[in-house]
Amino acid sequence: MAWDFETDPEFQKKLDWADEFVRERIEPLDLVYRDGGAPYDRKNPVYRKITEPLKAEVQKQDLWACHLGPELGGKGYGQVKLALLNEILGRSYWAPTIFGCQAPDSGNAEILAHYGTEAQKQKYLEPLLRGDIVSCFSMTEPQAGADPKEFKCAGRKEGNEWVIDGEKYFSSNAELAEFLITMVVTDPTVPIHQGASMVLIPRETPGVNIVRRVGLGGEPLGYGHHAYIRYENVRVPEENLLGGPGQAFAIAQTRLGGGRIHHAMRTVAMVKQALQMMCERALSRHTQGEQLARKQMVQQYVADSFIQLEQFRLLVLYTAWHIDKGHKSEARTYIAAVKVQMADVLHDVLRRAIQVHGAMGCSNELPLMRMWSAAPVMAIADGPTEVHKVTVARAIFKQYQPYEGLWPREFLPAKVEEAKRKLGDAIEQEVQNL
Ligand SMILES: Cc1cc2nc3c(=O)[nH]c(=O)nc-3n(C[C@H](O)[C@H](O)[C@H](O)COP(=O)(O)OP(=O)(O)OC[C@H]3O[C@@H](n4cnc5c(N)ncnc54)[C@H](O)[C@@H]3O)c2cc1C
Repeated sequence: MAWDFETDPEFQKKLDWADEFVRERIEPLDLVYRDGGAPYDRKNPVYRKITEPLKAEVQKQDLWACHLGPELGGKGYGQVKLALLNEILGRSYWAPTIFGCQAPDSGNAEILAHYGTEAQKQKYLEPLLRGDIVSCFSMTEPQAGADPKEFKCAGRKEGNEWVIDGEKYFSSNAELAEFLITMVVTDPTVPIHQGASMVLIPRETPGVNIVRRVGLGGEPLGYGHHAYIRYENVRVPEENLLGGPGQAFAIAQTRLGGGRIHHAMRTVAMVKQALQMMCERALSRHTQGEQLARKQMVQQYVADSFIQLEQFRLLVLYTAWHIDKGHKSEARTYIAAVKVQMADVLHDVLRRAIQVHGAMGCSNELPLMRMWSAAPVMAIADGPTEVHKVTVARAIFKQYQPYEGLWPREFLPAKVEEAKRKLGDAIEQEVQNL
C-alpha cells in the first residue's frame, strides 16, 4: 500500500504494554523524584534499586534502546516505530532513561559507535548502552552560543596527547557524566567547519572544572544540571580525538539530527496530554450558567489545538519515515522543520490548556506550567528556531529557479495569451461544429 496510517498489530501490542507500564510503574517516579537530573544519576543506590527491575521488564519486552540499529544491538524497529513509542515515553521524565533512549546519551552512543576505538567502545559505549553510566555533549560556549565561528575552546597537540583549554556553557549532565564529548578548535587557521574536532574526555581527567551548576528557570540559583565548565590544561591521549582532526561538524550532524527528532517525538506526548487536560476541564467546569465546553472561544481553543497537534504529529511521523527510507537530504530539511514546529505547537497548546484551567493552570498543583516552560527550551536547545528556519528555507529555494525576463511565470496577461494560442485551433473547430 502506498499510503498507510496503521500500526503493525504486533508492535501495537508492545505500545499498549508500554502505555500501561509507563502509567502504572514509571509516572509515579515523576511524582516522587521530581528533580530533572534524577533519572541521570546512576550512582544513587535508591534510584538504581528502583529502576533496575523496571529496565529488565523493558528489555524482556524487546523495547530497550529502540533508537539503535541492529548493528548496535538494537531491534532495528526504525524511527517511525520509535516515534510511536516516544509518544508514550514523552509523558514522563523518567521513562526515556528506563527505556534506554534518552538524550544526550542516545546521540553520544552513536558517535562512539561510529568513531570510537575498540577500547573506547568497551570502556564507555557498552556501559552507556546498558544504561550503567551517562554522558555529556559539551559544545556551546558562553560567548559563542549557536555560532561556532566564535568558539574559543581549543585543543593543541603535545607529543601523543591533546591538551584542551577553554570554556563551555550548558553542558547538560556534566556533573553526573562518566565522559564528555567536547567540541574544540584544533586548527584556528582554517574555517571552523574544517578546524573543529570532537574529543572524548573522561570526566575524572584533571582540569575538567565545573565553575557553576546552571539550572533552568524555577530551579534555585547555583543548582541545576547544565554546567558551566572550564577546561584547564586537560590532557587526553591522541586517540581520544574522534574521527580525525576537523571532523567535528560531520560528527555533530549525525548526532544532533537524531536528538532533534527524538525530542519532537516526545513533545507529541506532552501536547496530547495538554489537549486531554484542556478537554476534560472544559467538560467538567461550569461558569456563567454553562459548561466551559459550550463557550465558542473554548471550542476554538480545542479545535485549534487538535489541528496543530495532528499536523505536528504527522510531520514527525513523515520525517521519521524519510529517515527510515534513507532519504538523507529530505530528512535534514524535515528534521529542521519539525524542530521549529515543536516549540510553537507546545507553546500554543499549553498556553490554551493553562488558560482553560484558570488560576489552577498557573499553579504548582498541576503540571502545566512546568510543561509550558519546555516550549522556550525547545526553541533554543539543539540550535535556535531561526537557524533551523534558514535550513528549511535554503532547502526549499534549491527546488526552484529564478524566472527569466521581467514578468513572473504566473503573470496572467502572458498566460492568457499563451492559453488562447494553445486552445485557438480547438476552439475554432468547436465553434464551427456548433
Ligand atoms: C535545556 C538546555 C540544554 C542544553 N544542553 C546543551 C548541551 O548538553 N550541550 C551543549 O553544548 N549545549 C546545550 N545547550 C545549549 C544550546 O545548544 C544553545 O543554547 C543553542 O545552541 C543556542 O545558543 P545560545 O543559547 O548561546 O544562543 P545565541 O547563539 O546567543 O542566540 C540567541 C538568539 O539569537 C537569535 N539567533 C541566533 N542565531 C541566529 C541566526 N543565525 N539568525 C537569526 N537569529 C539568530 C535566536 O533568537 C537565538 O535564540 C542547551 C540549552 C538548553 C536550553
